[in-house]
Amino acid sequence: MPCTPSNVIARTMRLGSVLGLVILGLTLPGLASPARADSYLTFVTALWPRAEKAGISRETFDAAFAGLGVDPKVISLAGTQPEFNQTIRAYVDARLSADRIAQGRAMAQRWKSWLDKAEERYGVDRYVILAIWSLESNYGASPGNSDIIRSLTTLACCTAKRPDLFRDELIDALKILQEHDITPRGMTGSWAGALGQVQFMPSSFLKYAVDMDGDGKRDIWNEEPDVIGSIANYLKLHDWDAGKRWGYEVKLPAKFDFTAINAHDGGLVGAWAKLGVARVDGKPLPETGKAWLFLPAGAKGPAFLTFQNYWAIKTYNISDSYTLSVGLLADRIRGIPSLQGRWPAQETTLNRAQITAMQKKLKTLGYPIETIDGKIGPAARAALRTWQAKAGLVADGYPTPAVLQKLSATP
Ligand code: CA
Repeated sequence: MPCTPSNVIARTMRLGSVLGLVILGLTLPGLASPARADSYLTFVTALWPRAEKAGISRETFDAAFAGLGVDPKVISLAGTQPEFNQTIRAYVDARLSADRIAQGRAMAQRWKSWLDKAEERYGVDRYVILAIWSLESNYGASPGNSDIIRSLTTLACCTAKRPDLFRDELIDALKILQEHDITPRGMTGSWAGALGQVQFMPSSFLKYAVDMDGDGKRDIWNEEPDVIGSIANYLKLHDWDAGKRWGYEVKLPAKFDFTAINAHDGGLVGAWAKLGVARVDGKPLPETGKAWLFLPAGAKGPAFLTFQNYWAIKTYNISDSYTLSVGLLADRIRGIPSLQGRWPAQETTLNRAQITAMQKKLKTLGYPIETIDGKIGPAARAALRTWQAKAGLVADGYPTPAVLQKLSATP
């Protein structure tokens, strides 16, 4: 059946009788794109049995979808892919502004009693909670104003972006409505489905959001104590090591043997100290814990020894740029001065296509690269270090266009 606007209206009328009268309000925004409006309605109709099985009432279901349609903004944003990876330095600098630091200190005062409670209950560093709050929603000022039910439905029905994943998240969003934590139209967030001031996906909300202020609702949209408690609970349940820091800026000894990184990464901190790695502020490194050396701009840039809590933060957002920004912003709010290490004057980074090419080449050469995804992770860095050492380069695991060129030319 061709998808003309009149067909859509006819179809809507038919589906309206299935879904309840509220759905009649659904079509108008979709008229500009009849095929999508059709997909949207078909999807919502087919969703009901699954929702019912998940314990969602008809009342909750109808209220959730009342008056909604495809969100063209989501369609448009879902179709774009950033071509270039920003350098870590550019990302970090943009998030360590004087404003964010000053505001973090003000929020530390304003919400002190709840941060005290969160530290006591979950053991999580208040400055890391503040830094995540800052990066996720600018302390609640920019949580995103997309209607989450509409966004997730659009993503699941009408884009090529992992429809099953977004359908499952949509069911979880309905569960949140079912439990009356928030009203359907109060459930706002990012176009990609992340909720409120903490930007949890609905599945994360169900696992990690807490009602810190005890009013009976887990309200990460309007209640700052719940925001603070939910971030803390999330980190605690991702193996936060209570009382410890995320990492330290370090300096490497002159003539540091970069090939030692692969052998020592994830090993006990004492082994790094023996190699001459030391904190830039001259204070001693912790005596216990596993540590990883992170060189975000290669051998010539700043160096960090990271610990378990770096990985806990990284579960919030897998990118090293994000994780390092959270750690460094937490440090600045805490009162630790700026980095002592210098970023290279002309820092370069590879784009996704180049990193994909690098991963493929390393795999072809027999290195253990499991995922070829255009993002540089620990496995790719370790493989690159091994190859760099063999090729007589500084084995810092930092890919530059020159390194890629040489790698590509390797038989
Ligand atoms: Ca609450």
